[in-house]
Amino acid sequence: MVDTNTGPLRIAIFGSGPAAFYAALHLLAKDAPSLEVDMFDRLPSPFGLVRAGVAPDHQKIKTVTRGFAAAANDPRFRFYGGVEFGRDLTLDDIRGHYHQVLFATGAQSDRKMGIPGEDLPRSHPATSFVAWYNGHPDFANAKFDLSQESVVVVGVGNVAVDVARILSLTPAELRRTDMPDYAIEALSRSKVREVHLLGRRGPAQAAFTTPELKELGEMEGSDLVIRPEEAALDPLSAEDAAKGGDKLQGRKIDLIQSLAGRPAEHPKRLFLRFFAAPTELIVAADGGVGGVRVARTRLVRNDTGTLVTEPTGEEETIPAGLVFRSVGYRGLPLPGLPFNERMGTLLNSRGRILEPNTQAPLPGLYCAGWIKRGPSGVIGTNKPCSVETVESMVADALEAKTLAPASSSRADVEAKLTSRGVRWVTFNDWQRLDEMEVAAGEACGRPRVKFTSREAMFAALQDTHDSAVS
Ligand code: NAP
Repeated sequence: MVDTNTGPLRIAIFGSGPAAFYAALHLLAKDAPSLEVDMFDRLPSPFGLVRAGVAPDHQKIKTVTRGFAAAANDPRFRFYGGVEFGRDLTLDDIRGHYHQVLFATGAQSDRKMGIPGEDLPRSHPATSFVAWYNGHPDFANAKFDLSQESVVVVGVGNVAVDVARILSLTPAELRRTDMPDYAIEALSRSKVREVHLLGRRGPAQAAFTTPELKELGEMEGSDLVIRPEEAALDPLSAEDAAKGGDKLQGRKIDLIQSLAGRPAEHPKRLFLRFFAAPTELIVAADGGVGGVRVARTRLVRNDTGTLVTEPTGEEETIPAGLVFRSVGYRGLPLPGLPFNERMGTLLNSRGRILEPNTQAPLPGLYCAGWIKRGPSGVIGTNKPCSVETVESMVADALEAKTLAPASSSRADVEAKLTSRGVRWVTFNDWQRLDEMEVAAGEACGRPRVKFTSREAMFAALQDTHDSAVS
């Protein structure tokens, strides 16, 4: 790909979710025998949101990792789990060891609603609940008060749908997932009877996808309740729909309307609401959230032609002792790298990170995935996103527009990590952990039982190492 004259072209990737792996696979597919790709993740385990975000009852989606594992069989690839950018390796370190660096660190925070009461006790970002029920080590000790009977989930994207569905599953459905035991136990004991999913616009603007909505209509212990009058299109959406351009959206609207008004027969209810914008979280006598004030909305066209909400003046209060805001993830700045605050992304063009004043590409620095384009799209959306960035990297490498590392050996990076007391998990180590998780799952009829702390992962690796040498 490029002749560095000093050894292999060394590339570091931070993050190991889909964007990181699609980039690694595309790089490794190049005819570049002397390439080296080192992938770092702050967690010992790889795969980012596939492991810690994709719902635990969506195991089929998680099989995408089998394709990612193929990268690990390539001798040019190494995985370093448990190594954090900015803490264990700084930008200066990286500049000293790699020709190119790709950041695929995702969107690690969440957006806020910007309404009064948002920070009351029992009001949480959906992102932390998702991380908790997926066994993310940083969230395994989080607490959610599931003794509440009524829960509001704000937003109608796929994350909101996941959260609402997980809150509505029966213990039998929960036991078929790879959710950690603590989450299965807490959710099985949950007193939640009503979940209210709030869409501020109408059915035509719902962000969830059709298969995810269909699932809400097929739950074993909860009924999906949609008001027919809210499933009906407002005049402006009807005008747009009549043009017939968006077939997927048409199918979604048809499904919403076919599910509306169905009789409810199960003990739990999942209310999917439209034209319902939260304006305030109301405090309960115990100081926590007790309800959500909601303004009924109508849609108007703004200057750019987008349908946006305006209040009709009608209001209601939904009693709820637990609130999850699911109004989007948000990227966090990375130490030393230019950040686009408005977008919550690294400042970039086609994946090349830009110097903020001149907008010129910073040599050797790239990004892909949600930290490049914002938190949108499904797993597969990351493939073309990462391919675009890799093509920028290849073009720059061919023109020798790379960093000029003083050292270009893996051994030097590993020595630096060791000198700083950093232990890391290799891909082989991860495969051993994976086998242990799957075996523990087989023993109880579940897809896997996850390790939910870094310490447990390192201890399990030590145990298998000890028994191998004894
Ligand atoms: P999303 O799809 O962007 O949905 C965000 C939702 O929040 C929208 O309904 C939005 O409504 C609403 N919202 C934003 N600000 C609001 C406010 N102030 N008050 C009330 N509502 C507000 O985000 P997401 O659900 O976090 O998902 C992120 C990405 O991951 C998406 O691309 C999603 O498809 C993907 N994902 C996919 C799956 C799957 O394939 N099964 C699962 C999970 C996530 P407006 O439209 O009115 O702004």
